[in-house]
Amino acid sequence: MPSNSNEGFARLLHHHSKDLDQGAPVNPAITLSSVYALPDGPEAEHRYGRWSNPTWSALEESFTILENATALAFPSGMAAIASVLCSVLKTGDRILLPADGYYTTRIFAEHYLARFGVTVDTCPALEFGKRDLTGYNVVLIETPSNPRLDLIDIADVAARSHTVRAVLVADNTTMTPLGQRPLDLGADIVVSSDTKAINGHSDVLFGHVASRHQDLLAGVRDWRSLAGAIPGPFESWLVHRGLETLEVRLQRMCSNAQSLAGHLAMKESLVEVTYPGLPSHPQHDLASRQMALFGSVMALTFPDEGSAEDFITRCRLIRPTTSFGGIHTSAERRARWGDDVPRGFVRLSVGAEPLEELLQALDEVL
Ligand SMILES: *Cc1c(COP(=O)(O)O)cnc(C)c1O
Repeated sequence: MPSNSNEGFARLLHHHSKDLDQGAPVNPAITLSSVYALPDGPEAEHRYGRWSNPTWSALEESFTILENATALAFPSGMAAIASVLCSVLKTGDRILLPADGYYTTRIFAEHYLARFGVTVDTCPALEFGKRDLTGYNVVLIETPSNPRLDLIDIADVAARSHTVRAVLVADNTTMTPLGQRPLDLGADIVVSSDTKAINGHSDVLFGHVASRHQDLLAGVRDWRSLAGAIPGPFESWLVHRGLETLEVRLQRMCSNAQSLAGHLAMKESLVEVTYPGLPSHPQHDLASRQMALFGSVMALTFPDEGSAEDFITRCRLIRPTTSFGGIHTSAERRARWGDDVPRGFVRLSVGAEPLEELLQALDEVL
């Protein structure tokens, strides 16, 4: 298990309160301004609201510490992903996407990238290991896959992507940099939907891109300024506030998930419990190698649709919502969205509730 995943988090917490002037506020302000004073010419840190804003800059500094790589903020995870794909790819290029990754990324590629002459191919998470990457310009991975929680060996795909000069993009939404560090394992760019665990309170959409390749990042930054996919100052401030408790929330959520997975795995009423932290997960060894935490998401397979829906609606500590990574435990039956899973397959996103109460609430309905 990587040992220094939390390196920098304490620094992140104190970053904005260092070297302040006497009497200065210690928290970043919400700056609502589209224009900036430029009496002496257009040279200044901030010039126009589509190019930069002090509230997002403050958040980007925190993301940069978190990722140990330069980071750019976006108004949603999809805006972050679209900016990377649109700025890196050109006509005639080829991209490989996970067949079982975030659905909207695939739809975006098939609707728009294909129209501009990019060939879009897909591959299930479990087949990346043997897939020939020759000819691809961009390879995008998501591990664990969602919702089946299959893993991709990041270091292996990174090495093979670089042999064929492909840019490796990792969607690290489910894990966050505290749970898994794709850039350290060789990925060139990380994209994240901060709508999930990073903000953590299910009240804002947000995203970011991080990379140690300044040339790639410059293209992403230009794309953001030109296309106008910019975050609002208030949302940036909310994410900054959420981010400060990420480490405590995630520790609790992941340890809750580990306990729950072990507990639920013994229930006769479930066909299967899938969680990378369980020794019964077929890729538990890989999980232990590349993940610092095993995550807050698990899959529960019920015998049928009825028992799955019953579990979700009757449990008093489960919110019947889509999405994951929030502090409130939530669940949904993924076949509702057309995922290629059994009808009784439930994605459970474990929250930060006290463990004893959560166990009791689940026992009441199982
Ligand atoms: C939610 C999600 C996205 C999209 O993020 P939005 O903030 O909803 O735009 C992308 N990738 C993954 C893995 C996600 O879970």
